[in-house]
Amino acid sequence: MTTRALQRLLREVRACTLCTEHLPLPPRPVLQAGSGARILIAGQAPGRKVAASGIPFDDASGARLRDWMGIDEPAFHDPERIAIVPMAFCYPGRGRSGDLPPRPECAAAWRAPLLAQLPHVRLTLLLGSHALAWHLGPRAAASLTETVRAWRTHGPAILPLPHPSPRNNGWLKRTRGSRRSCCPNCARECGRCAAEARRRRPDRTSCRWRPSPP
Ligand code: SF4
Repeated sequence: MTTRALQRLLREVRACTLCTEHLPLPPRPVLQAGSGARILIAGQAPGRKVAASGIPFDDASGARLRDWMGIDEPAFHDPERIAIVPMAFCYPGRGRSGDLPPRPECAAAWRAPLLAQLPHVRLTLLLGSHALAWHLGPRAAASLTETVRAWRTHGPAILPLPHPSPRNNGWLKRTRGSRRSCCPNCARECGRCAAEARRRRPDRTSCRWRPSPP
């Protein structure tokens, strides 16, 4: 059951116009959060397709992420199971080599108050360099590759992952070793959180998680 404080905060976020003058489109914050969520996904900012649909990870990145997590779409989009709170909530526009970075005003204004309303989060998936920098600070290694490679040092509450975007295919191919080790662990850790949630809330058993990989 999402608390009143969180509902009020989400309404404020959805009405936010803080960085309108820097955005290519009118603000349309895309996020999901329920106070019972056990898993937090911290991504970058919505791409154009997600900005149009208003549904978080309603794109190829989402399909790959769900595959890594071993989770189906209904469970993924249940805010009482999974909070999706990226580093910025509106599409930032395109730069020379892909989408622009998330607008910094967004995390500065909203991130801490939102995370404070998610007391049951047990696992945070960090996707990409901006989320790594915010959540890990000086604990992040010098590069994304090194941080992902050292994922074990942040567990079990935090799992740094590469961003699942198809634009990252080159990196994913080059760093197959890191990906092989951290992505199967992603499904295992997500499955562990789901099992714990089922133990606490046996009425909510419809979540379809694939069996964890060996
Ligand atoms: S990106 Fe964040 S700060 Fe900027 S308008 Fe959207 S919700 Fe507000």
